[in-house]
Amino acid sequence: MTGEKNQWSRRRFLKATGTAGLGALMAPVNRLATAAETPTRVPTRPFGKTGVDVPILSLGGMFNIASNQLMMRQAMRWGVTYWDTADCYQRGSEKGIGKFFDKYPQDRQKVFLVSKSDARDPDGMIKLLNRSLKRMNTNYIDLYFLHSVKRIGELDDEIKSWADKQKAAGKIRFFGFSTHRNMEECLLAGAKLDWIDGIMMTYNYRLMHTKGMKRAVDACVKAGIGLTAMKTQGGGSVRTDTDTEIEMAGRFLEKGFTDAQAKLRAVWQNPNIASICSQMPNMSILMSNIAAAVDKTELSVRDTQLLKRYAQETQSDYCTGCTNICQSAIKENIPIGDVMRYLMYCRSYGDRHYAMSEFNKIPEKIRIRLAKTDYSNAEQRCPQKMAIGRLMKEAIQELS
Ligand code: SF4
Repeated sequence: MTGEKNQWSRRRFLKATGTAGLGALMAPVNRLATAAETPTRVPTRPFGKTGVDVPILSLGGMFNIASNQLMMRQAMRWGVTYWDTADCYQRGSEKGIGKFFDKYPQDRQKVFLVSKSDARDPDGMIKLLNRSLKRMNTNYIDLYFLHSVKRIGELDDEIKSWADKQKAAGKIRFFGFSTHRNMEECLLAGAKLDWIDGIMMTYNYRLMHTKGMKRAVDACVKAGIGLTAMKTQGGGSVRTDTDTEIEMAGRFLEKGFTDAQAKLRAVWQNPNIASICSQMPNMSILMSNIAAAVDKTELSVRDTQLLKRYAQETQSDYCTGCTNICQSAIKENIPIGDVMRYLMYCRSYGDRHYAMSEFNKIPEKIRIRLAKTDYSNAEQRCPQKMAIGRLMKEAIQELS
């Protein structure tokens, strides 16, 4: 992939798509024909020391890709050529990508393809890697992640040898990990491993300004590790019922952004983030995100301050994944961070189906203990002041 120069401003993009404003991004799909003819391309950034330039917007593949082939085609045209999936993503994510490459084999080389392994042992990992390759109709994956790493000890010498072997065999080009838990620690320690090429981590306007996260990102950049941000919406849309939210909404509207677009722009303002991985299960979200990606309007200091203030005012609504704090404060082995994430999928992303399927993978005996455990110590230590006990009970009601 080359760093094709962005030729179109966001406003021209909107004009080209026949839309007059953000509301019109909900336009019927047939109106996209005009956009398909435009030279609009998402800008690119270097991905660490890999030598690859990736689009700053990547397509999170946790949706029914098989039924959205036209949208994938359009994503290609707009330069969204970094696709992220995982062996465990449901709704035929990998198979949908395979269907696409079956029909458009010439596009395979244009895509920076990422998949992930839930297994932690070499035998399990090779089985999953081979299955992913078969499902996706390809003989290599550009970047292969160990999925959802919670502590750096998971990346041991055995995993390193495995990654080296698969690189030598040409099955993967680069290796790294994704992390939703204890991100700062995982990034800092990952930066010390010279065999890690890329990391995808939860990163958004709530987390990006902390000293710990800044230090962790700097360490990875210094080590030449490519960074992809995920969960950039920081827990869903603003509710627009406090002074901060109303002021923020007004300012963003003046700039022509929705709050979702402003949150993307906040992350892109850090040039060290190579790409944002965003779930874009339909054309409206894809277009809205592309519109934000091609815009050159910077958020002002005041905009950033407002986002920070909003993050502070709503901190008890957002779990930052620092599970080493809360889970070590209770006697029971309860995956608090995982349950918080499933609640977020359900409440903020509206993906109840996925949230329920993941929640119900928690062994039954642990789910039973969820409601009975005393979380008072954990609540006292939680930096976000989350009502952990209440949320665990609500998770049982909503997701069982
Ligand atoms: S519940 Fe609190 S302490 Fe636990 S992971 Fe979330 S933010 Fe961190």
